[in-house]
Amino acid sequence: MSKPRILVVDDESILRMDIKEMLIEAGYDVVAEANNGELAIELASKHHPDLIVMDVKMPKMNGIKASRIIHSSFGIPVLLLTAYSETELIKEARMANVVGYLVKPITERDLIPAVEMALGQSERVKVLAGNIKDLHAKIEERKRVEKAKGMIMQTYKVSETDAYERMRAHSMKNRIPMKEVAEYIIEYGKLGINPLEAKER
Ligand SMILES: [Mg+2]
Repeated sequence: MSKPRILVVDDESILRMDIKEMLIEAGYDVVAEANNGELAIELASKHHPDLIVMDVKMPKMNGIKASRIIHSSFGIPVLLLTAYSETELIKEARMANVVGYLVKPITERDLIPAVEMALGQSERVKVLAGNIKDLHAKIEERKRVEKAKGMIMQTYKVSETDAYERMRAHSMKNRIPMKEVAEYIIEYGKLGINPLEAKER
């Protein structure tokens, strides 16, 4: 497995360096560094890191606003770093789809588990999004099969079960997936050709 790629953003260069070292030490790849929110967005777009570890209070653009833009534009998770006095801002951060936050001073003991959690959570979100996409594809396929079945029922004046059986038999005999059988039944049906005979002509 390749090393997770992380972008580090903080306007304090010493802290940025510390965090970078902790991450490298723990086996992560720090792909870039930034000292303000604007640059963070630019680098996120350029490098597409797996995670961004980002300060809240920074010049030009704060970390919360940058998180919001980065989330909506690139879907990259952000782990925020904040001073104790700024924890009020974290409420706002929830709206920016921030995966977590750490209160400064940042220690290796806090940072690494938080990074692991953030990466794991974003991985689960990706898997879920993939499942939803598969599910949508299946529903679409089901709809096409239903439509094709209706066309067979009408063309051959047969029952629903019969229509489905005919499609299934055709699928097995010609070794074509049901999805494709449905597709060309619909296509040929539009042309007024007997759909199940069309392919054999
Ligand atoms: Mg700062």
